[in-house]
Amino acid sequence: MAEPTSHGAAAGPVARYVVIRGGTVVDGTGSRAADVVISEGQVVEVGADVSVPPGATVLDAGGCLVAPGLVDLHTHLRQPGAEDAETVESGARAAALGGFTAVVAMPNTDPPVDSAAVALEVLSLGTGAMCQVAVAGAITMGRAGERLAPIGELASLGVRLFTDDGAGVQDVSVMRRALEYARGFDVTLAQHCEDDALARGGHMHEGEWSSRLGVPGIPAEAEEMMVARDIALVRLTGGRVHFLHISTARSAALVAAARAEGLAVTAEVTPHHLSLTHAELAGYDPVFKVNPPLRADVDVCALRAACADGTVDAIATDHAPHAPERKDATLDLAPPGMLGLQTALPVALGALAARAADRGRNGGTPGHGAGGPPAMAPRDVLGLLSWRPARIAGLAPDQGGDQGGPIEPGAAANICVIDPAATWEVDPARLASRSRNTPWAGRVMTGQVRHTVFRGEPVVVDAVAQR
Ligand SMILES: [Zn+2]
Repeated sequence: MAEPTSHGAAAGPVARYVVIRGGTVVDGTGSRAADVVISEGQVVEVGADVSVPPGATVLDAGGCLVAPGLVDLHTHLRQPGAEDAETVESGARAAALGGFTAVVAMPNTDPPVDSAAVALEVLSLGTGAMCQVAVAGAITMGRAGERLAPIGELASLGVRLFTDDGAGVQDVSVMRRALEYARGFDVTLAQHCEDDALARGGHMHEGEWSSRLGVPGIPAEAEEMMVARDIALVRLTGGRVHFLHISTARSAALVAAARAEGLAVTAEVTPHHLSLTHAELAGYDPVFKVNPPLRADVDVCALRAACADGTVDAIATDHAPHAPERKDATLDLAPPGMLGLQTALPVALGALAARAADRGRNGGTPGHGAGGPPAMAPRDVLGLLSWRPARIAGLAPDQGGDQGGPIEPGAAANICVIDPAATWEVDPARLASRSRNTPWAGRVMTGQVRHTVFRGEPVVVDAVAQR
């Protein structure tokens, strides 16, 4: 990314050291018990029982996993335009508390990121934030789905992902032209898959619960038709598509088939689509209204299996803050979206890495028990949250970035330290976000981010933000 680097103000003439002591280092290369010594923003030593330099800040990692910082492909920071819901600063603080050292800010702001001026504004707001703030650009002007945005100009600023998120590009000829145009800049188009005509007027998944509650539904096909369409366009154009927040069993199957065919497609799922179902809407609580909607048990189980078998490339939060005045409305009027940055890691670990019998812990509703996919190794779940999305975002070390790489001497010190056994209760009032719309209020999470180090600076220590 051609994006300014922040090292904080603390770096003086004397090298300051940070030592992460007593943990298990897990990254794309494997796992080993090791201490990590950091200086001047870089990892300088990784090994057993390192000697602690005088004056070093020591971060205890006993019982913890020490991983590359998490990378979120899908964060709504709401600035410019809805600063009452979130700002770049507050969203980045929530991200750091959640273990993220980079987020990709979605372009559906007001105004949207369809010009260099707005992209530069968000990048500049991100300078000095508690994590890296990369920016996604819009595919079309005003996200209106008609005229292409200046993709080349935005790419020259380091923008690597383009999306009209919040809406899919409806016109197939516009999407075809966007794919052909994007190829020339080596950027990725990310699609919010939803056929407007089929989804219009729906407020939740169309199925057993929408019938029971008398709420207009959004059928799974509204998503699957666009997934299938865009796979066909990738085949036609030789372009590249990243599917945002896929939510149904058949979407996952379509992605798996496209991958088997050798097409350049990737896909993300959200923590909530791995853990919650449409049954949550039984009380008409708008906090569970999200787009795409919470689906059925079979979809949740299929998405978990798609994570385990490699079909899904990334877990992305779709962190979508809404000010209480807007979100605390009736189900038909409330905007879709829920917070995700501070709960993503424990929810993902609970849905994917816990043994089937224990999956209820972080709210996993589906009662499939032993019928679900086998538990993933925690390292593989971290891959879905860190080094695999870093590559999709174009932020990996061999792409010119400094995110998601192995923890080794010379690497940028973007690291999160996770206590997989720690428990904590989600109190909406204590989250760093400016908004309160978490679906996990009052739920006890297993797994906590203990420390986050961003470019050498401990920005979160003992689960407390340092600034
Ligand atoms: Zn979306």
